[in-house]
Amino acid sequence: MAEKLQAIRGMNDILPTDSHRWQWLESTVISVVQQYGYQQIRTPLLEQTDLFCRSIGEVTDIVEKEMYTFADREKRSLSLRPEGTASVVRAGNQHGLFHNQIQRLWYVGPMFRHERPQRGRLRQFHQIGVEAFGIAEADIDAELILLTARLWQALGIRSVKLELNTLGSSKARAAYRQVLIDYFAEHPDQLDEDSKRRLGSNPLRILDSKNPDMQALIADAPQLPDHIDPESREHFAQLCERLDDAGVEYTLNPRLVRGLDYYSRTVFEWTTDKLGAQGAVCAGGRYDALVEQLGGKPVPAIGFAMGIERLLELLIEDDVEIAEPGADIYIVVVGDAARRQGQKIAEKLRSDGRWKVILNADERSFKAQLKRADKSGAAFAVILGESEVENGSALLKPLRTAAEQLEVAQNALGTVITESLVGA
Ligand code: ATP
Ligand code: MG
Repeated sequence: MAEKLQAIRGMNDILPTDSHRWQWLESTVISVVQQYGYQQIRTPLLEQTDLFCRSIGEVTDIVEKEMYTFADREKRSLSLRPEGTASVVRAGNQHGLFHNQIQRLWYVGPMFRHERPQRGRLRQFHQIGVEAFGIAEADIDAELILLTARLWQALGIRSVKLELNTLGSSKARAAYRQVLIDYFAEHPDQLDEDSKRRLGSNPLRILDSKNPDMQALIADAPQLPDHIDPESREHFAQLCERLDDAGVEYTLNPRLVRGLDYYSRTVFEWTTDKLGAQGAVCAGGRYDALVEQLGGKPVPAIGFAMGIERLLELLIEDDVEIAEPGADIYIVVVGDAARRQGQKIAEKLRSDGRWKVILNADERSFKAQLKRADKSGAAFAVILGESEVENGSALLKPLRTAAEQLEVAQNALGTVITESLVGA
C-alpha cells in the first residue's frame, strides 16, 4: 500500500463535522460588520517579503522567526501573509482607496506563522479582521470596540474582557523608549537573551515578553502612561468616555504594547482566561503612520483581528450550541424506474428552493437506504418503488415524529411537505 500523506504540522483540515461551526461563526460576524457598513476586501495570501518587514517591523517575533519566507522561481523573496493589515494597506495604496476617502473594510482568511503548534496556536490559522481608514477622531476607535462588543453578544460569548492602553504619539514613544533603555540597562543580569537583543533595537517589545523570569523586572519598569503626549491623552480620554456612554467595561493595562511595531495611540485586546496560555481572542489598535510608511499619503487608521480557532474554542467553553443543519428530505429509490423518477422529483423539490434534498444515488436495499435517511437528519423520507412510479405517487414517511406514513401524489409532494414542516 502506498504511504498515506499527512497535512503539514500545525495546519489543520476543517472537516465536515466541524465546518458548519465555522460557517455559523463567519456568517454571524459578517452580519454584524455589515450592520456597521463595512465592506469586504480580499487580498492574495502571498506578498513580497519586504511588505511585512516594512510594516510589522524587522525586530518583531513575526518577522524574526515566524514567517514562511521563500524564493520563487525568479528568485524574489515572497512570504505567506502572517497577518492581514499590511496587505490591506498595500492594496489600498495601490488602488487609491485612501486618498480623501473613508474606508470601512473587513477581511477573513488564513494567516501563516511558523510557531510551535499547540492548543490555540497553529501554523495556518484564520483571522477575521476589520480596518477603518481616514478617521483620526476617537469616535472610530469607539466604533470598532462597540462592534466587537456587539459581536460577542451575537455569538453568545460571555467570558471575555477588554484591556485598553494608549501608546501615545510616535514622538512620545521615542522619548519613552529612551527611558526604558536606561531602566533595563541598569539591570543587565536580569535580562534574558531576547531582551538583551531587543534593548538596542526595540525595548518596548521587552514589556511584551512572556518569560516568567522577566515579569518582576517588567512590573517595576517605568510606565508608558506617564510619558504620553497631551493630544494622545485627550484622544484616549474621549475613547474611554464613549465606552462609558455605551456601558462597555474595560481595564486599563499600561503594559499592553502589542507585538507589532506599527501601532500608535489606542491599543486594545479582548482576552479570556478559559483558553489557557492562548487567551487573546481579538487584538488591535491605531496605526496612523503605517499608510505613509508603506508609500502612501498619511492616512489615520485603526483595526483589529480576531483568531477564529480561539473563538470557536471559546464558544465551546461558553456552552454555545451550534446545531448542524441536517437534510429536510431524503429520497429513497428502489429499482431502476424509481431511480430515474427520483431524480426528477428531487430536482423539482429543489426548484421550490426551500428544502435541502438528498437523493439516494446508488443501488442499495430499501432497508439500507432508510438507515441513511435517518442518519441524514431529514424530517421526511420520500419513498419511491416500482408501484409508486406506476401510479404517480410516493410514500411520505415522517422520520422524526410518530405521525403515520402517507401516500401522496408526486406533484403534491412539495405542498404536503411545506404544510407539515411549516405548520409544525
Ligand atoms: P499571541 O500573543 O497569542 O501570540 P499575537 O499578538 O501574536 O497573539 P495578533 O498578531 O494580534 O496575535 O493576531 C490577532 C489574533 O489572532 C490573536 O489575538 C489570536 O486570537 C489570533 N492568533 C495569532 N496567532 C495565532 C496562531 N498562531 N494560532 C491561532 N490564532 C492566532
Ligand atoms: Mg504571536
